[in-house]
This record gives sequence, C-alpha cells and structure tokens, in this order.
Amino acid sequence: MNDINQTDDVLVAGAGIWGCTIARRLAEAGHRVAVWEKRGAPGGNVRCETDSETGIEVHAYGSHIFHTHDREAWNFVRRFTEFNGYQHKVLARHGGKTYHLPLGLAMINKFFGVELEPGEVAAFMSDEKHSSAIFDAFFRGYTSKQWGRPPEDIDPAIIKRVPVRSNYDTNYFNDYWQGIPSDGYNALFGRLLDHPYITLETGREFSIDDIGSFPGKVYYSGPIDALFGYRFGALPWRSLRFETERLDIADFQGTSVVNYTEAEVPYTRIHEFKHYHPELKDVMARPKTIICREYPAEWKPGDEPYYPVNNRESAELLEKYREEAAKHPNLIIGGRLGQYRYYDMDQAVSAALKVEI
Ligand code: UDP
Repeated sequence: MNDINQTDDVLVAGAGIWGCTIARRLAEAGHRVAVWEKRGAPGGNVRCETDSETGIEVHAYGSHIFHTHDREAWNFVRRFTEFNGYQHKVLARHGGKTYHLPLGLAMINKFFGVELEPGEVAAFMSDEKHSSAIFDAFFRGYTSKQWGRPPEDIDPAIIKRVPVRSNYDTNYFNDYWQGIPSDGYNALFGRLLDHPYITLETGREFSIDDIGSFPGKVYYSGPIDALFGYRFGALPWRSLRFETERLDIADFQGTSVVNYTEAEVPYTRIHEFKHYHPELKDVMARPKTIICREYPAEWKPGDEPYYPVNNRESAELLEKYREEAAKHPNLIIGGRLGQYRYYDMDQAVSAALKVEI
C-alpha cells in the first residue's frame, strides 16, 4: 500500500470504545497511530446524533449508559469527559401495569399485592409458585423476543445481568459509578482521539491484506469472522431494528427506558432519550420528545451485529477464527465484535487498558 503515512507505526482498525482507548494509550506511549474507521465517524455503536429541532441526544444504536465498578476504567474515561450523575432505572410493563426493575421489593410487593420486609424476600421467592410467576411475567417473553429462542436455550449468565435484590434499590446496575457524558458521547470520542500522534481516517475498512503495511502492531476491533472473509462460516449474532419518532409532547413515558416484557408486544423496549440529561432544563421543558422502539432481529451478513449468541457451536467456530488470528503475531483483536463477547462499555475500556502495548 503506498498511501500509508510512513511515519505511522501502528494501526488501530475500528474506532469504537475499545479502539479509541487503545489508540489514546498508544499515542501517549509515543507511537504514531493511524486510526481507520469504516463508518463516517468514530464511536462504534455508542455513536449519538443530537437532534437539531429538540436538542435531544439520540443514541443511534440504542441506549448506552456508562456504568462501572472498575476504578481504573472510571478514572480513564473521566480524563475525557464529565459525567452528569444520571442513575439508570428501568421500568417494565406487564399486564397493563408498570413495575420497577430489577427484581426487588418494589416489584415483588406490587406484583403480588403484598408488603414484604427485606428479611422475608428470600423465603417468599424460594416458593416455586412465586419465582415462576415473576419469571413468566418479566423474563420469559422478553428473553424469547430478545434472543429469538426460549430462555432455556440461552446462557443463564445473560439473564443474571439483571440484579436480584431484597431491598427497594431500583438502580438497574450494581455498579458504583455511572452517568452519561455531560456534553455527549460524541465529544468523548472526539477528545479520546484528539492527540497530535493520532490520525483518524473515516470510511476506511481494514483488510487482512493490509497487515504487513505497518511496522508495529495492528489493533483490530471489527468482527473476527469478517476479517477472515467468513471462511469457516458466519458467527451468529442478534441484531436490532429501531423505529425512532419525534413527538409533540414534553414527556411520553416519564423515564428513559420501559421494557415491554410480554411476548405479544413485538418490541422489547421504548427509549426516551431526553431523560438521560435531566440537567438540560431547557431541553426537558420543550414540548417535544424523541422515542425509539427497539425490535430484536436475527442477524444475517450485512446487518449490524449487536449481541453475540454464545453457545457450543459459536464457541467452536470462534476458536477456528482465533487460531487463524494467532497466525499473525502483530495482530491484536479486541472489543465486542472482535472478542465476540457481550461487553459493556466499561468492560471494553478495562480490556483495552490491560492490553500490553
Ligand atoms: N431481561 C428480561 N427482561 C427484562 C430485562 C432483561 O428477560 O425486562 C433478560 C433478557 O434475556 C436480556 C438480559 O436479561 O437479554 C440482559 O438484560 P440487559 O438489560 O442487561 O440487556 P441489554 O441492555 O444489554 O440489552
């Protein structure tokens, strides 16, 4: 390749949160870093668009809330953004009523019409009748829609992402630190890459044939199977489809996310983005809002991959691609797509901070 800047010694292919974190670390360590991003802008699926009519930050690929208990990851991202103190709460609609997730005293008491004390929750939920009723109402339908298969066929660790508590804490995450970047996610990515040693080139996709063009390493965070032309077959993903609407009302649902847990409702959740920035009083007060219905979809090549479908077959396929990748000693693969892992944003940052550079 003759159009590579000869002073760049390393390549970061893919400018999602893992790629941008690595790029920044490399630049700060003195490397000249070329960043290639196949889309028109960095940020991966955390990318947002601010609606010019309402000033609302729309999460273009579904809601993203930064949350972590990893102090190192938290301190790292805070070098590039302030957080607004938003704490994520998720509500669930079932049977025409609205409940607080996660599974805790607020939900249990409302659902069963009881007034349990914290010390009574464990015994109450150990009754199979109660636990099945909760599972059927809040998890069975949602999980079947989300994954396109019954809950019995998915990794139990996925449902365990949702906490189980015996108190009134309705915070969706157990993580100590959380929030939304005060001036938006795009600004965070802009600042991560704003370094004299980093050159960003958008609209440029990495191919395995480019591997010899850089004297140093190549840090790749696209899909691992795509990198090798799907030669062993495509890894299975779940995809999503979003229907976004601007409405002429100030507040549609009174909160940022409502899950629709019944199998009959075709979408899994509705996002209402203005609630992520309660500190923007003028945006909150405007008589307009933006909502987005999220529909899960089976993935096929060409669609956006969102969630890896971890099972025995995909593990075997992944292993073959990893063996292929290992033949290239200069190639480091990371991120949700590259690792084929259900990473949250903070886990992508933590993983990028641990890569030896
Ligand atoms: N889940 C569910 N009902 C809910 C919320 C979550 O059954 O109301 C299950 C579902 O299988 C989902 C998993 O828990 O895929 C993890 O949920 P989470 O909210 O962490 O998913 P994400 O926001 O990453 O899509």
